[in-house]
Amino acid sequence: MAIYFISDIHLEPGRPALAQGFAKYLQNLAVKGDASQLYILGDFFEVWMGDDFINPFVDQVKAALKALSDTGTDIFLMHGNRDFLLGNDFCRDAGCTLLQDPSVIQLGDEKVLLMHGDSLCTEDIEYMKIRQVFRSEAWQKDFLSKSIEERIAFARQVRSESQSDQQMKSAEIMDVTPSEVERELSEHGVNIMIHGHTHRPAVHNLDSGKTRYVLGDWSDENGWEIRWDEDSGIKLKEFVL
Ligand code: MN
Repeated sequence: MAIYFISDIHLEPGRPALAQGFAKYLQNLAVKGDASQLYILGDFFEVWMGDDFINPFVDQVKAALKALSDTGTDIFLMHGNRDFLLGNDFCRDAGCTLLQDPSVIQLGDEKVLLMHGDSLCTEDIEYMKIRQVFRSEAWQKDFLSKSIEERIAFARQVRSESQSDQQMKSAEIMDVTPSEVERELSEHGVNIMIHGHTHRPAVHNLDSGKTRYVLGDWSDENGWEIRWDEDSGIKLKEFVL
């Protein structure tokens, strides 16, 4: 059996080809039948304003995940900086389990740290401040109590004001801070980390002898995954959707 990792799909209704490609990816996993677990490491959706924000697009994504889950694959979903409001209602419908950022899992003999990756970009000081606010229970409770229209208006306002968001739009996401990577690896007592977010897919062999795997973001044509099995170990690859 194998374990799969993906991130930064950035699903949105305005990109039907991407949604179709993603659905096909899940179907292929089901047909191959070797995926004991699938980890989605954040920014699964381009934006998420609450599990009560339902439309046919969301229903299709839920159904696609549920179909894979029903074949026996355990699906884990970690929040990204764009979909941190994904909640238990979505996960119940989609047959997924929410996963804390960071989380440590076991791959064979090796402990591996999973993160979305935004928290590693500590030099984006403005974003780190906003992140702290958005991830607080009080802020989220207040936001989710607003009407859908109010939430949309708020998101629009933040997007136009936030420098971080403008950086994202121009795909100039700040890269990780190397010392923060080492700090997280040490804190969790692991030698391997897998994350997404930066859209800079790579395998980094660090001076410390540890390894940082970075997943890539998906386009309408291509996706990225990490696949692990006992024989082959951890492999990062790009593929055509
Ligand atoms: Mn991200």
